[in-house]
Amino acid sequence: MIKKYLLAPGPTPVPPEVLLRMAHPMIHHRSPDFSPIMEEVSEGLKWLFQTRHDVLIMASSGTGAMEGSISNFLSPGDKVLTVNGGKFGERWGKICKAFGINAIEIMVEWGEAVDPAIIADHLKKDPSIKGVYVQASETSTGVAHDVKSIAGIVKNYPDTMFVVDAITALGVFDIRPDEWGIDILITGSQKALMLPPGLAFASVSDKAWKMNERAKCSRFYLDFKKERDNLKKNTSAYTPAVSLIIGLQQVLRTLREEGLQNVFVRHSLLANATREGMKGFGLELFPKSSPSDAVTAVKAPEGFDGQQIYKRLRESCGITAAGGQDHLKGKIFRISHMGYCDKFDVITAISGVEMVLKEMGYSGELGSGVRRAEEIFLIL
Ligand SMILES: *Cc1c(COP(=O)(O)O)cnc(C)c1O
Repeated sequence: MIKKYLLAPGPTPVPPEVLLRMAHPMIHHRSPDFSPIMEEVSEGLKWLFQTRHDVLIMASSGTGAMEGSISNFLSPGDKVLTVNGGKFGERWGKICKAFGINAIEIMVEWGEAVDPAIIADHLKKDPSIKGVYVQASETSTGVAHDVKSIAGIVKNYPDTMFVVDAITALGVFDIRPDEWGIDILITGSQKALMLPPGLAFASVSDKAWKMNERAKCSRFYLDFKKERDNLKKNTSAYTPAVSLIIGLQQVLRTLREEGLQNVFVRHSLLANATREGMKGFGLELFPKSSPSDAVTAVKAPEGFDGQQIYKRLRESCGITAAGGQDHLKGKIFRISHMGYCDKFDVITAISGVEMVLKEMGYSGELGSGVRRAEEIFLIL
């Protein structure tokens, strides 16, 4: 027998109490059974998003909310800035292309964070830019972009909205849309929210809703205004993902019990122990700066294949981590520490990496990474 450990940056493990709630018999979404759940979940999402605005709930993967944050607020021919520093940043450009939006892509070397001054320069030169699209945490490289600083820049442009993909950031580290000036903040269910895949969320500011009134891109299913109108009546435009929303109700209760600041502190501690543990075993981290607290990207040591590490972790340790994508394939592997995760998930991951690399002939000392992580956990 081999026991399984899901330590990939999405989907992530689902807590047992959430699984049990979702196993209850189906209820009807246009019935008095469902509307109180929607009401509670709507309030809980505002708390989690740290916003007074409505948080829309869509039955789609995270990319649905990415697409909707373009199609609902722009018209063909509009110009926007997208930050392309990894697989998900690249996706903004692809979605824009599909909708006839003129995306100016800011190319950032994978492993680095965007320099907010570059965004400031672009906006100064061309205030007709309608939006700035960025990831708070670029999952493919394990880098966090400085969305607070970027928000401070975009805020000065009344006709430019700031859109943040926080799919591996919301519920991991502090993001304050209303306070900082983030107009659309999106996330998905299967990362830090500890749910199965299938829900996407977006909070929308008044500035963005004004842009929605003039936006001419085609849309039907992902119609944010229609969803907002329905949300006000504690329902949704089409059949919602009932079971996932019931699971979300439980997740929000669990998170509220822990407290938002404690959730952030836990993630920061787990991330720190993972990074230090990997370094303790002699490995190098991939991000050159600002590593994300959601996922740690580690360089495969010189002469070792990152895909092999990933494969052996799965086959001989039962650990599902993640490899690198595109040109990083074979160069890095990634370990998630977001969502339903605690210190022994981190210890498991480091121990697995140590054993697998040792087997492959790597020279690091067994236990040196685990020891480093344990030291970090004990100091607190
Ligand atoms: C997972 C993820 C997405 C969305 O992916 P889906 O497969 O559509 O859920 C988008 N952005 C980031 C940063 C992600 O980590």
